[in-house]
Amino acid sequence: MNFQVSEHTQHVAHTAKDFAQQYIKPHVMDWDESQVFPVSVFKEMGKLGLMGVLVPEKYGGAGLGYFEYKTIIEEIAKVCGSIGLSLAAHNSLCTGHILSFANEEQKKKYLPKLATAEWIGAWGLTEANTGSDAGNMKCTAVKDGNDWIINGTKNWITHGISGDVAVVICRTGEPRTKNNATAFVVEKGTPGFSGGKKENKLGMRASETSEMIFDNCRIPDSNRLGEVGDGFKQSLKVLDGGRISIASLALGIAKGAYEAALKYSQERYQFDKPISSFQGISFKLADMVTEITAAELLILQACDLKNRGESVTKLSAMAKYYASEVSVKVANDAVQIFGGYGYTKDFPVEKFYRDAKLCTIGEGTSEIQKIVISREVLKS
Ligand SMILES: Cc1cc2nc3c(=O)[nH]c(=O)nc-3n(C[C@H](O)[C@H](O)[C@H](O)COP(=O)(O)OP(=O)(O)OC[C@H]3O[C@@H](n4cnc5c(N)ncnc54)[C@H](O)[C@@H]3O)c2cc1C
Repeated sequence: MNFQVSEHTQHVAHTAKDFAQQYIKPHVMDWDESQVFPVSVFKEMGKLGLMGVLVPEKYGGAGLGYFEYKTIIEEIAKVCGSIGLSLAAHNSLCTGHILSFANEEQKKKYLPKLATAEWIGAWGLTEANTGSDAGNMKCTAVKDGNDWIINGTKNWITHGISGDVAVVICRTGEPRTKNNATAFVVEKGTPGFSGGKKENKLGMRASETSEMIFDNCRIPDSNRLGEVGDGFKQSLKVLDGGRISIASLALGIAKGAYEAALKYSQERYQFDKPISSFQGISFKLADMVTEITAAELLILQACDLKNRGESVTKLSAMAKYYASEVSVKVANDAVQIFGGYGYTKDFPVEKFYRDAKLCTIGEGTSEIQKIVISREVLKS
């Protein structure tokens, strides 16, 4: 594996960084406190190709690879985890599912709109009582002539209200049987489909999370993605790629927290010395940068595998698990380095601390990542 960052990836990083400084940074705390999901920012990102990073140019996307994708999410997350999360969910989940499993006609219909942010995407797998156990979903789609009728509620859905189009995974077979789920695309405005309760969250507050409600929602069979019964299998593949983006999100948050703490530790004086001169602080910095670097190497390895089209199930779970745990630890240490000031909203580290925690939960908790990793390790 080549560890040198290409000129192209550096250019992409600058674009994302400049964007974050200009369009995101001035508003971060306002959006966080008011829980505003700033749709206009995503429209601007669409103009730069950031909303269709992996989508081929023939469908209106940027046609980039996973190294660039990781870099974009990371640079945005260094400034605001919420925007990073929404960017990751839009690109990897909704758009990623359509990119991987839609037929040509569906791709032509949806990808150009998603890649340019004309439409914001949502992806619904989780339900109130089926999170880690997502295969046990209750939301059903029943065939009626050439249509499907969807009933049920999806919970914790990023852009569940504001999304213009959603990929939804529904049970189409008997409970607890194999191949009993199917994926569908549902457009906003379809009768029987609506957004529900918006969650009031600890962190990632500018990334909208809500219910999606289906009440006798009728959609044509042409909205089905792939074969009947393949929905859950497709979702696992989508999550394999998505986990690289959540790992990158965690990495960006960790780097943002570390950089703020490093600077502060050299500016803050106690006992007539910068606090960085105390070993209790400098050793924290040493741990932070070491763990961040290790997390980044795992992510890069997963990106490399994914770019080469190889199976990434174990590596993406490892990268997601490790980077998200590192992110929480680094953000915690950053708050500690800031002392009392770190506990206030006048400095950025308290938000990094709140946002980081989501990374150990979304797209499979740390415990679920360990199940995935150990299953792969124990495969004969
Ligand atoms: C901000 C946010 C955004 C989200 N966005 C989306 C989205 O866009 N689309 C979507 O479909 N979902 C989304 N989710 C849902 C997310 O993927 C789930 O929250 C996650 O998978 C965990 O499910 P749960 O919350 O039901 O927890 P549970 O599954 O109830 O888990 C509770 C605890 O039990 C542990 N646990 C469960 N099973 C096991 C086991 N077998 N072994 C060991 N420990 C176990 C878990 O690790 C966890 O610690 C989002 C969630 C959040 C918070």
